[in-house]
This record gives sequence, structure tokens and C-alpha cells, in this order.
Amino acid sequence: MQNIEKNLNRIREQIVQAATTCGRDPDSILLLAVSKKKPASDIRQAWQLGQKHFGENYLQEALEKMQALGDLDICWHFIGAIQSNKTHSIAESFDWAHCIDRVKVARRLSQQRPAGMDPLNVCIQVNIDHEDSKAGIDLEAVPALAAAIQELPGIRLRGLMTIPAPRETFAEQRVAFAQLAAALADLQRQGIDCDTLSMGMTQDMEAAIAEGSTLVRIGTAIFGERT
Ligand SMILES: *Cc1c(COP(=O)(O)O)cnc(C)c1O
Repeated sequence: MQNIEKNLNRIREQIVQAATTCGRDPDSILLLAVSKKKPASDIRQAWQLGQKHFGENYLQEALEKMQALGDLDICWHFIGAIQSNKTHSIAESFDWAHCIDRVKVARRLSQQRPAGMDPLNVCIQVNIDHEDSKAGIDLEAVPALAAAIQELPGIRLRGLMTIPAPRETFAEQRVAFAQLAAALADLQRQGIDCDTLSMGMTQDMEAAIAEGSTLVRIGTAIFGERT
């Protein structure tokens, strides 16, 4: 049995610690609770403890949980890879999508975002270590995709997201995150209005915060191991 309350308190403390260690304001880091493969009851419990942002990877599973939790004011983030045939539901049901890696998907999300809803917040996923197993684009391709997204009224570019390959040391973990932070700074210098670095998971959260993460995506440390 996971003690979600204890876990959530511990993670919040670790965020405060990591932020203060590097002279950052802890409130500048949003905690996204990653609830994939966990029941709606776990989400409800975390929500009752003040957690409002939840991340899901699998569309069907997410939609079922949204149904069960329709009475709660949750901000839903889609953090899985996006297939073109799934954009419609994502555009209708989510507040954020973190894994945009091609114009086609961005266009569809924009077109399919219902009128009357705020634009869907999106991040461009960068495949920082060029891994075949991961989605995302190369850093060099970021400016062009960012420029294309800016033309789309139904979505709003918030920043960049990455999942680096596992590394042994804190110093090594920081290198990949520093590259993403530099890419965001480049976009900002070009006058592109964006503010989000979606980086850091249970294993590398502190290193991500040290490099400027504004949104950490934490699953295991809150809800326990996934089976
Ligand atoms: C599963 C997942 C997470 C959470 O990972 P943990 O190691 O359990 O904290 C974060 N981001 C993405 C994109 C994920 O798929």
C-alpha cells in the first residue's frame, strides 16, 4: 500500500530543497503527478491533498479516469506520444500536451480544439539523446517547429519537454537538461513567447531543477512502482 500523502509531502519538500539549493523560487516549479496505470481513486486522493495537475500517457485509460473524476477541477496533461488519429480526443479533453514532435499533429490539435476553450498548451518534445526508442525531434529542428506552432490559433506553445537517457551521476544528468534550457533561451531570444521546461522525473528531478525545470513529471515517487 502506497502512502500517497506521505509521498506527496516528501516530493514537495524535495522540490523546495532542490530549488532553494540553487537559489530558485520553489513556486516557479509545477509538480505534475503522473498517474498512468494507477486507479482514479489514487488521483482523487492526491487531489484532496491539494494536487491539481495530473499527467496521463494512454488516451483510453485517461478518458475513463476523466469520466470518473468529472466532479474535480483537475488540469489534465497528455504526456504520451501522440498518434494522428488520437488528436481529436486530446484536443477536446486535455489542457496540455507535452509531446508534440511534428507539424501535422500540431495542425490537427489546433483545428480540433473546440471553439470556446482556451488554446491547448503544448510543448515540443526533444529527443535529446537521439534514442530510437523515444519520440521527439533534434534540437536543431526546434526553431522551425516552434515557428510553425506559433501560427496555429488553437494551440499555444509553452516550451520544451524531454526524457533523457538514464545517467549515473548528478553532473551527467545536468548536461542534457542544460541543453534543453539553452534551446528554450534561444527561442525566447528570437521573440517566441514561451516559459516552460518540462523536465525531470523521479530519478533525475533535482538535476532538472538545477538546470531550470519549471515543470517536473513525477509518477513513481508519488504513486509507487507501476506493474
Ligand atoms: C511515466 C512518465 C513519467 C513519470 O516517471 P516516474 O519515473 O515514475 O516519475 C514522466 N514523464 C513521462 C513522459 C512519463 O511517461
